[in-house]
Amino acid sequence: MKTILTGIRVNEEPTIGNFIGAYKTMINLANEHAADAHINMFIPDLHSFTTPIDHSKLYAQVIKGVKYYIAAGLDVNNPNVHIYRQSHVPAHSELAIILNCFTYYGEAKRMTQFKDKSEENPEAITVGLFDYPILMAADILLYDAEIIPLGEDQFQHLELTRDIAIRMNNKFERELFTVPASEKEQVAFMNLEKGLRIRSLTDPSKKMSKSSKDEKSKISLSDDPAAAAKKIMSATTDSLGKINFDMINQPGISNLMTIEAMLSGRDIHDVIQQYAGLERYGDLKQEVARTVSTFLEEFQQRVAQISDEDVERVLEQGEAYANKVANAKLAEVQRAVGLIR
Ligand code: ATP
Ligand code: MG
Repeated sequence: MKTILTGIRVNEEPTIGNFIGAYKTMINLANEHAADAHINMFIPDLHSFTTPIDHSKLYAQVIKGVKYYIAAGLDVNNPNVHIYRQSHVPAHSELAIILNCFTYYGEAKRMTQFKDKSEENPEAITVGLFDYPILMAADILLYDAEIIPLGEDQFQHLELTRDIAIRMNNKFERELFTVPASEKEQVAFMNLEKGLRIRSLTDPSKKMSKSSKDEKSKISLSDDPAAAAKKIMSATTDSLGKINFDMINQPGISNLMTIEAMLSGRDIHDVIQQYAGLERYGDLKQEVARTVSTFLEEFQQRVAQISDEDVERVLEQGEAYANKVANAKLAEVQRAVGLIR
């Protein structure tokens, strides 16, 4: 049985970018494949403080993160759906330490997210931030996961995971790890033309990021719906005066069309056809603002209906499963590297 796996860091409130790029894609896949695949949706809580956070809020955020998975439509009554916390499956950390020694400094240094994040936060570049793609490789390889629904920004880390898996399989002359599918195969599996990248509302040359300090650049899943609508109305577009779906020359307005399609469930080509060539950006913005605020209202209502006890029950089952699978794989690796017989 295939494993489809993804995790969303809970350092800050997730955004509609995370929802579109990660939650929604994963949940569509889960609903389509849960009969014949394991669906692992975990909370990478050890990744939460690779950049500085308020630690007094972390535990509550993790619990909320689980509620978000459920509210986004993950069917927790399906026995193939597994929700777990990375920190509650110690094999993740143990494998990461081993993988560190099969990852070259030079290749880790090439990761563009590390470069971007270090520039954003030059006073807080930790070894944890540098090393996080290797922990991410452990997250994936422990479960022999093949399909990893990710936003476009994460594909470089997936490529690193593949390189480590192939390297170790060759070195130890056995199929220690399943090599995850390539970017092209992943995107095809998700029925997409390419990876998704929702842009910042204030600077559409950049992606929307939950850790951004610029509140207007992002819409968080806990934003007040009316305030979120205002952010859409004041989103940066362009001065060309004609709506066109063109991510290169008109990324702002194209981003709004993408958000509209993804959150309303309409085909993007429909949205493009409705607006292409029109001059009034305001009409499109109003429709997107309505879609976003309705989406947030409904989503937040669903979150409020999930209790902490529901979360505990789901985690208990998920972590029992995850520990079993992960420990078995860790033992195989420990044997290969000579730590156990
Ligand atoms: P941070 O600023 O803390 O890195 P982030 O918004 O980039 O936050 P991550 O936790 O790094 O979020 O990523 C979680 C998932 O969301 C990943 O699968 C990532 O590819 C996806 N994702 C992140 N940003 C976007 C975006 N703007 N559009 C689509 N998908 C995204
Ligand atoms: Mg990120």
